[in-house]
Amino acid sequence: MKARVFTNGDFWVTGRDVRRRDSLAALDGRIIRIGDYDECLDAFPRGMKPDVIDLEGKTVLPGFTDSHIHLLSFGLTLQDIPLADVNSIEAVKARIRARAAEMPEGRWILGRGWDQEVFAEKRYLTRKDLDEASGGRPVFLTRACGHIAVASTRALEIAGITRDAQDPPGGAIDRDAYGDPTGILRESALELVRSHIPPASRELMEHLLKQAMEHALSKGITTAHTNDGQAGFPGTMDLYRKVQEQGVPLRVYWDIPVEFMQDLFKTPLRTGDGDDYFRIGAIKLFADGSLGGRTAALEEPYSDDPGNRGILVTPEQELREQVYLAHTHGMQVAVHAIGDRAARVSLEAISSAQSRLPVNHIRHRLVHVQILSPHIMSEMRRAKVVADIQPKFISTDMRWALERVGPTRMRSSYSWRTMRRAGIPLAGGSDCPVEPLDPLLGIYCAVTRKDVEGNPPLGFFPNEKLTLDEAVRLFTMGGAYGAHEEHRKGSLVPGKLCDFVALSEDIASVSPDDIKDLEVVLTVVGGEIAYRKT
Ligand SMILES: [Zn+2]
Repeated sequence: MKARVFTNGDFWVTGRDVRRRDSLAALDGRIIRIGDYDECLDAFPRGMKPDVIDLEGKTVLPGFTDSHIHLLSFGLTLQDIPLADVNSIEAVKARIRARAAEMPEGRWILGRGWDQEVFAEKRYLTRKDLDEASGGRPVFLTRACGHIAVASTRALEIAGITRDAQDPPGGAIDRDAYGDPTGILRESALELVRSHIPPASRELMEHLLKQAMEHALSKGITTAHTNDGQAGFPGTMDLYRKVQEQGVPLRVYWDIPVEFMQDLFKTPLRTGDGDDYFRIGAIKLFADGSLGGRTAALEEPYSDDPGNRGILVTPEQELREQVYLAHTHGMQVAVHAIGDRAARVSLEAISSAQSRLPVNHIRHRLVHVQILSPHIMSEMRRAKVVADIQPKFISTDMRWALERVGPTRMRSSYSWRTMRRAGIPLAGGSDCPVEPLDPLLGIYCAVTRKDVEGNPPLGFFPNEKLTLDEAVRLFTMGGAYGAHEEHRKGSLVPGKLCDFVALSEDIASVSPDDIKDLEVVLTVVGGEIAYRKT
């Protein structure tokens, strides 16, 4: 039996209005008492002497849940060229040259995170840009959104993408004035190239996943709702289990890609099955693309691209069938829906499944839910759908969101406060590797609606800011609720798992602008120290 008292902390119990406590007692990984030091010492059976850990006055929050993350993808990106900080095409070329110099001929050069909006040249990359720097190697660089990529001429050749190639369903191959591919691929067209990239070996995946999971713990994440499938089914699950067995105690709720739905149905596993470290999560479905790439499905055309309403990446009827199938098999669904048309179509699919077979409290989710309307919000509430939001997106999207959708639609977009007031349950995530893995950055964006440089000074559409309490809830109770785990996680009360995070300073006393600079100094999972800042 493992008995612990964590003392001299400043425990945030359910919010800052509630009396804060200085000690917590845990037995075998669960909280048995929270209160003052003597009360906590008395909480154990007679004769049992707990280990005492001094928290040195630090502020303690419940362990963070990231409600939408791709941990294995993030791990795999650790070997890619990072391009998120690059602001010119010339600089992209320089990084390709440097990587090419250290890699054998013929090997693929992969990169991720570029964004033409920040390039000095103000244009998309082309295959010719990549060819100039890569010495004939295949190169494949994914845009920040993950829905668009650019391939070098060699990579296009390997994939058989010539001027005669047809656009695949739900995707597009960009072409120049002569009809030749420019190298830019959109949505499902990425797969044409990706399917030719040799996969990482299992050993490499395991090694990179371990790094990713340790990184998550160092950022205060104690539960990750992760959506990955690179190691197949059930291989991806085995991979997470294997890293956990190596002593990495990050709790995982695995959102399963829809292509494994039939394989899953051959097993008895359903949403919620598992143990306190690994549970089966939702079936992850896709309704549309990204707003940055103008592939998010809108009801009306893009304000900066008349005639384009974006892409429903799964045809409406097929999405309905997928949702119904998952629903009738006892699976939660999590549908990627960024545009208002995607949100409407997804909600209709959920409502139709519910009317054919009503299931209470299944808590289906819509992921991202950026462009909305008052009507969609009331439908979400009626359908009891959880909104899985990524506050950090605002700092990236504010640069062009208004141009994309115009002022009228903008008023009901990224409308976190309105959603909260409308009674829609909210959960917070990062969508890492799309955005950095850092819940404190998410909380900062939720309360300030500013980018990391602190702009705009009053925040972007500041009426939609969340309070600090609400923002912390997103990354604690919000995620727990979205996984039916609110009785196990999300707050520091007796009976729940002893998962918490200690911060470098008091989050309630620092200015909201400084929340992004706070550091996690200690992460505790199941009463054990999982990370300590050295
Ligand atoms: Zn995602």
